[in-house]
Amino acid sequence: MTHSPLYARDMAALSALQKLRFFPLAVERGEGCYLYEADGRQVLDLSASWGAASLGHGHPALRAAVDQAMATQAGASILSGSNATAVQLAETLLRLTPGTADRRVWLGHSGSDANETVARVVPAVTGRPRIMAFSGAYHGGTQGSMAVSGHTAQAGAVKDGGLTLVPYPDPFRPFEGDKTGAALLHHIETLFQTTCPGAEVACFFMEPIQADGGLIVPPQGFLSKLAQICARYGILTVCDEVKVGLARTGKLHCFQHEDFTPDIIVLGKGLGGGLPISAVIGPARVMDHATAFSMQTLHGNPICAAAALAVLSVIETDALAQSARQVGQYLMDQISALAIDVPEIGEIRGRGLAIGVELVAPETGEPDADLTRKTVFRAWQLGAVFYYVGMKSNVLELTPPLTLTKEQAKTGAAILVQAIKDARSGAVSDAEVQGFAGW
Ligand SMILES: *Cc1c(COP(=O)(O)O)cnc(C)c1O
Repeated sequence: MTHSPLYARDMAALSALQKLRFFPLAVERGEGCYLYEADGRQVLDLSASWGAASLGHGHPALRAAVDQAMATQAGASILSGSNATAVQLAETLLRLTPGTADRRVWLGHSGSDANETVARVVPAVTGRPRIMAFSGAYHGGTQGSMAVSGHTAQAGAVKDGGLTLVPYPDPFRPFEGDKTGAALLHHIETLFQTTCPGAEVACFFMEPIQADGGLIVPPQGFLSKLAQICARYGILTVCDEVKVGLARTGKLHCFQHEDFTPDIIVLGKGLGGGLPISAVIGPARVMDHATAFSMQTLHGNPICAAAALAVLSVIETDALAQSARQVGQYLMDQISALAIDVPEIGEIRGRGLAIGVELVAPETGEPDADLTRKTVFRAWQLGAVFYYVGMKSNVLELTPPLTLTKEQAKTGAAILVQAIKDARSGAVSDAEVQGFAGW
């Protein structure tokens, strides 16, 4: 297959190590919820680069904030001196995040360095060697964050010696056939009483929606019950909100859909609106454990901190959580309405603008990875960009900019459903998708 000149240059110049490609997308510029390819073609961005471009592309408030921060550049780090923007960001995050009074904020570049920091510091503080997480979890791509992840795409990574993985509560493919999650909670508690003693467990990493594992929404009440069990054993709950946090699910924090407050909260992706910044919010006794424990030179730099402040400010002033709730519901309703004659859709699920569409073989209900990869390819041809997730590579994932309008959602839903129909009737050949391994 011949690619656009820009994509061909990408192949010749950029390392494959950091590519997770589904089709030969080559972007020249972006504006709002649209990307423009090198030939000028406009495509609707229903991924927002995995949720990172939370305000869409080139948002005026973000541009102004970054421009202002550059014009008055207050150093480039917080390691050996403070800067006003980083302090203000930390104060803002503390104000916006429920929890106890005495907390601190750690600023990083990515979800990976944030989760890695948590995985290092909590065992160090508590003296407990074990860590719990869910199979299917994606907590990052660095050694230390992969070590506490459970995604099959990282099967070759060295795991933390104290790591125990348990199944994620998936109502569509439930553990022991129990959609409520009660059987799974019982299983976890049994582990704490036997082979994985609760008193040895430092923390439990959880995604409030398991995104890369398949955009799985846990049964209502599961996470709060799990948090109660953890509390009984003194295990700290770590809520990885990197992809689904910050207004995406219709509330500022995804855990607010459940009646529980995690001990430690991890933010990333959309926090910087496209610039690299992450944050960990947690108890002072953990986050002030030691100085010079987890740092990188540019952590807390005022440019990225200013971007994050602008994102948080626009989320509040434009009521983007409410908008995500409404537009997301509308998007799911549109897909359902158009998909009545598409039995390949096993389930449409999500909260707000974090939506998963699971594709299966209608006769058996088994995951259909081939149809899925051809669907995302076809959707790109038809003018919409989104990717797929899931341990079986069969869940279309929509995480568009929070600024998506209903009109755009309507167009997106139509393209998505048309793409499934086209893909199932052979519009995309094996040869076309060959070379796009996805994951
Ligand atoms: C993307 C992601 C990460 C890792 O973030 P990076 O910015 O890629 O390092 C961690 N946790 C979750 C839930 C994610 O979706």
